[in-house]
Amino acid sequence: MGKDILSMLPQEIERDFISMGEQKFRAGQVFQWLSRGVRDFEDMTNISKPLREKLKENYELYRPKVLSKQVSKLDGTIKYLWELKDGNAVETVVMSYKHGNTVCISTQVGCRQGCAFCASTIGGLVRCLEPGEMLDEVMFSQIDSGKEISNIVLMGIGEPLDNFDNVMRFLQLVNHPKGMNIGMRHISLSTCGLTERFEELAERDLQLTLSVSLHAPDDETRSKIMPANRGRGVEQLIECCRKYYEKTGRRISFEYAMIDGVNDTEYHAKLLAKHARYVSAHVNLIPLNHVEERQFQPSTPEHMKAFIKILEDAGVNVTVRRKLGGDVDASCGQLRRKMQKS
Ligand code: SAH
Repeated sequence: MGKDILSMLPQEIERDFISMGEQKFRAGQVFQWLSRGVRDFEDMTNISKPLREKLKENYELYRPKVLSKQVSKLDGTIKYLWELKDGNAVETVVMSYKHGNTVCISTQVGCRQGCAFCASTIGGLVRCLEPGEMLDEVMFSQIDSGKEISNIVLMGIGEPLDNFDNVMRFLQLVNHPKGMNIGMRHISLSTCGLTERFEELAERDLQLTLSVSLHAPDDETRSKIMPANRGRGVEQLIECCRKYYEKTGRRISFEYAMIDGVNDTEYHAKLLAKHARYVSAHVNLIPLNHVEERQFQPSTPEHMKAFIKILEDAGVNVTVRRKLGGDVDASCGQLRRKMQKS
């Protein structure tokens, strides 16, 4: 099997070309073809036939196939299920906002974090995505939808920090000036809180937004719904968030899915407010998306209102995420799950 050229940076392709006795500027040409979505060396028309043959021998190229595409009648949100080279499938969602189009990408096939309310983790982790596969989620969502992507959120299937090296390389690729050139400030990475990776992430000094899926401000509640909390704990998580903020100057966002009777009481709101203030975090409330296999229900509008008021009175910056794609299973992991069952 050939090398995965889609996961390579231009300077790496260049090094390969030099050792193959090819001219170095050819690497830039190939990278540009790849960045335009060309996935067959034969289509690289400014590359000589002998070099195209060499490329075919040395590298592999695959174009993800659309297994399913659903377009929301409510808001135009598009949900793709892509087939990868080994037959596995992942979801990608394109959402349109006033400020531009955002793509939500998966970082793994399945997930091993086991959050009790999430559909992505039900079958466990199958494998990590390669950098080029994540890049293709962005590229082919843009090409197929005809919507220019300006923002990326790593909030699809999988835990990005559990696929650290590939995710870091994907960020370099998608941010590359000769590639899609999407600015780091337009990228959000969401984690269930793998704190052992926070320092390394901070050291990279990326300008991206770190979102932390908090979902509960105390160990008793959080460990129940998020196994990743066990052995780490909320206190450690909050300390690591604070250090991250101090080191990078980038405000963290706490994701908080409101679950009826589980994490939506006054007690939870007050403790959440305390953590958010300590870390200078922004709080993003999400009404829970009900997942068929899970027993949890979203909080009532009254409970949400009371919860928001406590946070606002405490001076916390809080927003409620608008629900998009409600009619297309856009709560991540649900579509892949449906295909697995049928
Ligand atoms: N593994 C990463 C990113 C993927 S999930 C993480 O945990 O952050 C993206 C977000 O959706 C997370 O905040 C996750 O907790 C949340 N989520 C998962 N299932 C949900 C559901 N049924 N309703 C609402 N939010 C959900």
